[in-house]
Amino acid sequence: MAGGGDRRVVGTLHLLLLLAALPLAARAYSRAPIAWTQEKNYHQPAILNSSSLRQVAEGTSISQMWQNDLRPLLIERYPGSPGSYAARQHILQRIQRLQADWVLEVDTFLSKTPLGYRSFSNIISTLDPTAKRHLVLACHYDSKYFPHWDHRVFVGATDSAVPCAMILELARALDKRLLSLKNALDSKPDLSLQLIFFDGEEAFLHWSPQDSLYGSQHLALKMASTSHPPGAGDTNQLHGMDLMVLLDLIGAPNPTFPNFFPNSARWFQRLEAIEHELHELGLLKDHSLERKYFQNLGHGGIIQDDHIPFLRKGVPVLHLIPSPFPEVWHTMDDNEENLDESTIDNLNKIIQVFVLEYLHL
Ligand SMILES: [Zn+2]
Repeated sequence: MAGGGDRRVVGTLHLLLLLAALPLAARAYSRAPIAWTQEKNYHQPAILNSSSLRQVAEGTSISQMWQNDLRPLLIERYPGSPGSYAARQHILQRIQRLQADWVLEVDTFLSKTPLGYRSFSNIISTLDPTAKRHLVLACHYDSKYFPHWDHRVFVGATDSAVPCAMILELARALDKRLLSLKNALDSKPDLSLQLIFFDGEEAFLHWSPQDSLYGSQHLALKMASTSHPPGAGDTNQLHGMDLMVLLDLIGAPNPTFPNFFPNSARWFQRLEAIEHELHELGLLKDHSLERKYFQNLGHGGIIQDDHIPFLRKGVPVLHLIPSPFPEVWHTMDDNEENLDESTIDNLNKIIQVFVLEYLHL
């Protein structure tokens, strides 16, 4: 019997030693620092409660977006055209007037096209260039070049005037919170927000690797060869991209967005959850749970778009493009008349919540 007692003592000792060792093991594990370039893999959202969701829904305005951000973009704006210049000035001015004091960069370059050398200009807007990591929202602001047809002009409302206007409206609606993120002096977060407006997404003639994605190919190469943080020897600006959220072909009624990439699936699931939560709170218009925008129905096949040059260089991507494409895609009917206001307003709310949660605001 004594033997049994001894065994129990020994057993208890082992248990105690094990319990004592666990925190040590945990500390030893956490003492190995995660390289800052890997932090995106462990990043968790700060999920908003229902009163915060209501505030976001009330803070965004589809009528302001329509009037101030969208209408001026509904013009012909293929690379190098007068409309392209006007669209660029419009985007720059809308961001410059905000309180958050964004750092704007215009990345202008020449590239050979089937129509000869053309000039292109990407717009990069960075909330805090000193932050190591950035959540990136992106879209293209060029419209596809089409000859005028029966006095009609191609304005690419969903492709991609609306996504550009949505990003501008997000920056306006969240301006105060983004300013506070930037000015958090005591606990300055190393994670901030960047907006990219690509030029030259469209092909001039027929889509091919040589005739498409002019702006994104150029910028991905440039960022890959620019040290980040400044002066760093072995990391570049692409390492600083936590996640690129690319918006395209948005604005037609009843879109469904597939999930494309396993490494960003958990962020796609946040979009699904946010859509559900906003619906339950009655904050979405003309919206039914039977026809959700974000449904994880298997992985969509990869679509050629501005994310490709970044994806190839290892940047995690959330590609927000509906499948199937809007019926009006690459027709003269991709115009203001065929946009669905409720869908755009609902998506504004979902994406703004997503950004706030990602940035812990
Ligand atoms: Zn297009």
